Amino acid sequence: MDLALLEQTLCERGEPAFRVRQVWEWTARGAAGYEAMTNLPRALREDLASAVPFSTLTVETERESRDGTVKTLFRTADGHPVEAVLMRYRDGRRSLCLSSQSGCPLTCTFCATGSMALGRNLTAAEILDQALHFRRLTKVDHAVFMGMGEPMLNLEEVLTAARRLPEVGITHRRTTISTVGWLPGLRRFVAKVDEPIRLALSLHAPDDELRSRIMPVNERYPIADVVAECRRHAEARNRRVFVEYVMLSGVNDSPEQARGLAALLGRENFKVNLIPYNPTGLYEGSSRDRIAAFRHELERARVPVTVRLTRGRDIEAACGQLAAVPKRPRRESPRVPA
Ligand code: SAH
Repeated sequence: MDLALLEQTLCERGEPAFRVRQVWEWTARGAAGYEAMTNLPRALREDLASAVPFSTLTVETERESRDGTVKTLFRTADGHPVEAVLMRYRDGRRSLCLSSQSGCPLTCTFCATGSMALGRNLTAAEILDQALHFRRLTKVDHAVFMGMGEPMLNLEEVLTAARRLPEVGITHRRTTISTVGWLPGLRRFVAKVDEPIRLALSLHAPDDELRSRIMPVNERYPIADVVAECRRHAEARNRRVFVEYVMLSGVNDSPEQARGLAALLGRENFKVNLIPYNPTGLYEGSSRDRIAAFRHELERARVPVTVRLTRGRDIEAACGQLAAVPKRPRRESPRVPA
């Protein structure tokens, strides 16, 4: 819902100031539409339904994984695809993975979104509407900006949306913005020490030579600068920055590279999250043993480390698999003429 348009529409109708609040409260608590807002006059509900679209996004397809993960493909009003994911965990956690752009201009070699062209930055309303869609399905309590796009290229809209999330049920402490290390945005984010939103860095390599090979953005913003900026963030808030590290067999998963990573990060400011690779074409994922050995090296160096639970792989909803191309139905094997 475009809250600026809502405000303007209510104001033009001469409605009392509390109406904006009323409509937003219903919406944030998961109301299905204006008709559900029973403390609003009926005529007003009808007018709003035609003047202010209840969502800026329309749902094109929605798929549910065996593990309960839901992936939704939306379209913006001007036709751009946007994907977002709801993850349901056994402990009851309900976490949203939100997109900040349609597509992505960066070309990380292991990520499916990177092979799609950039459509455009999403507006705050389009970002928030992803969360509101899932709020209508279930209560939610965590959000990560780890869907399509690079949040630091669209930071203001991302933050405007994030500021509304507490009313949807997701506090800032349970909100995480993930970045490749796009320094201009990252610097602005780190300078804002007023918001306890968490930060995650997609690092994936312990040295510049390798990182530039798998993430071209590293040519522009090398590791030392990016890690220093993240360290500043951790120190200013006294909260660890998450480091995402996707495990690519024979590429970045050796024990020596683990030691290099530990030396780069140190014990104090970071927490490493090892991500099993979700197949997108180019690489092989590291074996379980290889991931365990890598983890062991980090633990020996007393760097906090966890291995990410993979969700929704069977519906291409897992990390790096968002590409807005609904999977084509498998073709039948060609008939051999008799
Ligand atoms: N552009 C931001 C936000 C997207 S986050 C960023 O990169 O941080 C998406 C996360 O999934 C990133 O950590 C990304 O590196 C990771 N990822 C990308 N492709 C993946 C794959 N094939 N398997 C597992 N993780 C992947």
